[in-house]
Amino acid sequence: MIFDFHVHCFPDALAPRAVAALTENARIISLKPLTDGTSADTEKRLRSAGITGAHVLNIATNARQTENVNKFAASLQSVSSGFFTSAGSVHPDCPDKARVIASLRDAGIRGIKVHPDYVRVSVDDPRYDEIFSLCEEAGMYVVTHAGFDPVSPDHFHVTPEGMLKVIRSHPRLVFVAAHMGGPSQIDGVLELLAGTNIYFDTSLVSIRENERDKLKTLFHAHDPDRIFFGTDTPWSDPVSEIRFVESMGLSSCVKEKIFYKNAARLLNL
Ligand SMILES: [Zn+2]
Repeated sequence: MIFDFHVHCFPDALAPRAVAALTENARIISLKPLTDGTSADTEKRLRSAGITGAHVLNIATNARQTENVNKFAASLQSVSSGFFTSAGSVHPDCPDKARVIASLRDAGIRGIKVHPDYVRVSVDDPRYDEIFSLCEEAGMYVVTHAGFDPVSPDHFHVTPEGMLKVIRSHPRLVFVAAHMGGPSQIDGVLELLAGTNIYFDTSLVSIRENERDKLKTLFHAHDPDRIFFGTDTPWSDPVSEIRFVESMGLSSCVKEKIFYKNAARLLNL
């Protein structure tokens, strides 16, 4: 069983525009989308790679969008195939964070995604701290983008130091750093975060051949209960992502946890 913890799709009417805008953002690393951005095409693509379910990470890139993004997140959870689970989103400038988090919980959503680079706010900013306290209190997990992102190539808003502060201030929060703690900062991740109570998702590792050896060290140094397999579809080929994780030399028991069991436990699959 393979569960994909990190995918992106959009409401059908917005998908072409959303995918085009994100492709333009990713221009400097020439990432090409592998789906048309709709949930139907995403499910088809992932199933053909042998993936049996997916967790969609939605992001409100401005405070006004929060409600619509969260409505879409809730709607995906009722797609009849049962393929999708989703995270909600709370923008750091959202004026009523507590209400938004409570309504996500009421809608059956168990966590949120934040993307500090998109909104140009560092992960250890007091506005995020308020969101993380509310999630910790409510028993909701948080997934964050981490490391390099083409939207802000010269300034990383989620550094190993920033994430260390978050997990120290919120010891009960399930805090997941995407991309194994982030591209282009693997030395800091190994030094400050490996072996801590942070969680990682594996998404986009297949495009990091240049960091293969250090990623392998990280896979072996971190608690195997705290790593989720993810692809970042449509930005990576799910088959290559599976193959890369398979090539890390992990035992079959650890791979079962990473590919399925850890996500099943967190998301109550
Ligand atoms: Zn992503």
